[in-house]
Amino acid sequence: MAFIYQYVIDRINSAPDINFLLVLESKWKVEKNNWYGKEDMLTEIFHYVYTVFERMFSKEYVDTKPIVFVNKACDEECPITVPECGIISLQNESNGTAMQAVYQAAHELCHMMLYDHNGTGGFKQLPYYFKWFEESICQYASWSVLDRLSIMDIPDKNLYSIYSQENKQFTYVEDTSKLYQSEIGNLMKDPCIRDINKQFAMGFEKNNLDKPASWQMLTKMHKLDFKRIISFDELLNELYVCSNSMEKEVVIKIASIFGIIISE
Ligand SMILES: [Zn+2]
Repeated sequence: MAFIYQYVIDRINSAPDINFLLVLESKWKVEKNNWYGKEDMLTEIFHYVYTVFERMFSKEYVDTKPIVFVNKACDEECPITVPECGIISLQNESNGTAMQAVYQAAHELCHMMLYDHNGTGGFKQLPYYFKWFEESICQYASWSVLDRLSIMDIPDKNLYSIYSQENKQFTYVEDTSKLYQSEIGNLMKDPCIRDINKQFAMGFEKNNLDKPASWQMLTKMHKLDFKRIISFDELLNELYVCSNSMEKEVVIKIASIFGIIISE
């Protein structure tokens, strides 16, 4: 089997399901290519991304070490995360740069962090109608990783900064709660409305949420009992209940972005 690019393989106690990899190969034609330049360079870059994630969430939280593919044949479905197998598949773009690889990998790694990955195979994802929130968080994670890399002592650090700035060049609506009110119906049907995901991600940024307490609190989402939670108001209120005092402050900030009241 020809892996495009294989990053750290030891996802806690479980190797990826080999049958799944075979399916993946036949479906997506995983094959070797030279996107983004040398594989050695990618290894180094993903190592940085991983290091940054450990700083974002704090080291003990980052126990998922995914395999990262750069997938030549996969377009519409990628980038994608397959949490069951600890696999992240990036989209191949003809003029792709290393910055783009980081941007995609950070987004997908964030998805993986937000799933329950306790290695039992009983992983949990958010219900589809809350996925828009997750997509917005992962958008924010991409920016956070690029911005953190841009101040690290690494090669090409200025390029990370430039890529991040370019990606943030849009008009921020400021009143994100109004946007939430008007778009929530659409977002429940299509979680990936990137212009709107970015507005909320910018809301997170304006509220300085790039702190371990924020990221750690968000990993608690999959633990909620979604049989009882129907609305996003309820989701945030439930998160508040199961959070420690530092995390509670984060929930309140997030709620303010969406104009949601937390009943204490
Ligand atoms: Zn996503």
